[in-house]
Amino acid sequence: MNLLNTILDIVFPVNCVSCNKNGEILCLECISLFPKAERECEEWIYPLYDYRHPPVKKLIWQLKYNKKRRLAEVLGQLMYENIVLELSDLSILENFREPLIVPIPLSYERLKERGYNQALLLCENIEKINKDLKVSKNVLTKIKETEHQANIKDRSERLKNLIGTFTVKNENLIQKRNIILIDDVTTTGATLNEAKKTLKQAGAKKIIAFTIAH
Ligand SMILES: [Zn+2]
Repeated sequence: MNLLNTILDIVFPVNCVSCNKNGEILCLECISLFPKAERECEEWIYPLYDYRHPPVKKLIWQLKYNKKRRLAEVLGQLMYENIVLELSDLSILENFREPLIVPIPLSYERLKERGYNQALLLCENIEKINKDLKVSKNVLTKIKETEHQANIKDRSERLKNLIGTFTVKNENLIQKRNIILIDDVTTTGATLNEAKKTLKQAGAKKIIAFTIAH
């Protein structure tokens, strides 16, 4: 832990968002108790934890709505470790080199209302750990506000709801590039699929995705 964090801990003590123990924003013990995501998921999407576990759900909520910047630091670290683990296979087997990191964007309205994009926070923390993983902030943008996916029960309706959600700016930045999409949660995979489709159409090469929970 660096000096600034030490000072911040003295001035603003932190408690674990999961067990409320004093010390860290998310303690190691709680992390070790999170069940790994095991439900079936598309093979290019790599979630870390099982969203049905209540502390995981709570943690995502905190990240999304409670401006827990320090939480994004810890989660960014955990995601980074997972990326490295998976890339150690991918780079050899499928020539997945020099990937760009792309956050799933929020619409302009949602961003204004919430003040920050949690997926971008995660990306920035990943880049902070490894400068080779460059974040592309202004490439994928969300141009259409969509009904919350969980509110739409029918799969084909869910997919229809997402058509035209995203657009790519500065296409030249992603031409023939490998991309790692980052989001906090994936439920049906529909959002990630739509983002992947949009990036592919704009000329991206291989795309994989990492999330905290599924
Ligand atoms: Zn804890």
